Amino acid sequence: MIDYPAICELKVASRCNINCRYCYVYNLGDDSYTDQPKFLTAEIARATAGCIRRYVERHQLRGFHVLLHGGEPLLAPLPLLWQICDVLAGTLATSTQLSFSIQTNGTAFIPEHFQLFNHYGIEVSVSLDGSQQTNDSLRVDHQGRGTYSQVAAGLKLAQRSLPQVLGPHVLMVVNPDSDPIGEYWHIRELGVGTVDLLLPLANYQLRAPAYSRSAPLASPAYGKWLSILYRLWRQNGRFPFIRLLEAFDSSVAALYSPLTTIKGSLTHSYFVVNTDGTLEVADNLKACGNRFTASGLSVFSDSIDDLLSLPLAVEYYSRDSLVPLDCVECPMVRCCRGGFIGDRYSKTRGFANRSVYCDDLFHMYRTISEFNAGREGRMC
Ligand code: SF4
Repeated sequence: MIDYPAICELKVASRCNINCRYCYVYNLGDDSYTDQPKFLTAEIARATAGCIRRYVERHQLRGFHVLLHGGEPLLAPLPLLWQICDVLAGTLATSTQLSFSIQTNGTAFIPEHFQLFNHYGIEVSVSLDGSQQTNDSLRVDHQGRGTYSQVAAGLKLAQRSLPQVLGPHVLMVVNPDSDPIGEYWHIRELGVGTVDLLLPLANYQLRAPAYSRSAPLASPAYGKWLSILYRLWRQNGRFPFIRLLEAFDSSVAALYSPLTTIKGSLTHSYFVVNTDGTLEVADNLKACGNRFTASGLSVFSDSIDDLLSLPLAVEYYSRDSLVPLDCVECPMVRCCRGGFIGDRYSKTRGFANRSVYCDDLFHMYRTISEFNAGREGRMC
C-alpha cells in the first residue's frame, strides 16, 4: 500500500551559487538540471497549486507541506517568492492546512527575506556540514573556496530575525573524517534547536565518500561516528533535537511500544515539482543514475496520482512493506528494515539489496540497544 506523500519539494530555482562536492543535483551524474529554466514562474506555481489541490481533496489530506527548494531557492527574486507563496496559500487554504519551509545554503539571505518567512510561517533550514574545517572540505563555491564564514553569518542573521519556532534549523551531512565530539559541541555553540543529520547519498554504484577514495576508511566508519555522537547526545539530555538520532531511537522504541510506528521514521515521503513544472519522485534517488527520477509528467497535463502510479513511485512510497530478502535473517531487521531505499540500489538488482550502509546501520542499532540495555535492561 502506498503512503500518500503530503510534502511537495518545489524547485523555485534550478541553479546554485555554490558547488558542494557531493551535491546530487549537479555532481553525482544526473544532468537533468541543464534542461530546467533557472526559476519557477507564477504561471507554473498556479498550475502546481491546482494540481496539489485536486490531490489533497481527492485523498482528503488534512495537512500539506511545501518545501521551497533548489538549487538555491533564495536566488529566486524576492517578488517571485512572494508570488509563489501567495498563489499556493490562496489556492490551498480552504482545502488543507498548508505549511511551508525552505532549505537554503544560507549564503544569500537579505533582511527582506525574513518578512516573507514571518508572514507565511516559513520554517528555515540552513545547510552547514559542521565546523569550519569539516564544512569547507566539501561545501565550496564555484572557485573551490570554503563557504563556512558566509553561512555562519547567514545563520546568525536568521537567528536574529526569526521566532524560534521557525528556526533556523541546520541540515548537516555526516563526515566520518571529522571528530564527532568536536562536531557535537560545535552544534551546541551554534545555538540551533534542531539538526537534520543525513548520511551521504550512496548505493552499490556510488559508494559513500569515505569508502570510495584511494585510501578508504574501514567500515563501519559512519556507524562508529554516529555511535560516538549518539552516546554524547544521550548523555546530554538528547539536546539539540537531532532528527536522525531520534529516528533511530524511535525505530528501536517501536519494538516495545504499540503506540509508536516505524513507518516513515528515517525519510520523509515527498514528491518534486521542477522549475518547468515536471513531476518527479523524491529527488534523493537521483544518485541512482542519470535521469533516474525523470517521469515525463507535468503539472500542466498530469496529476499527482499519475506520478504515484509509476513503478518507481510504487516501490519508493511503499518502501516500509518491502524489506529486502537479504535482510530477513538479520537480528536488527525489525529496527532497520533494510535502511533507506535509495541506499539499497544496484543496477542489477534494483532496490532488492540490503543497504549499502548495512555495517554502519547494524553498528548503530547495536550501540542503541547496548545503551538502552545498560540503562533499562532491554535489547533490540
Ligand atoms: S542492518 Fe543490514 S541486514 Fe540488517 S536490516 Fe539493516 S540493512 Fe538489512
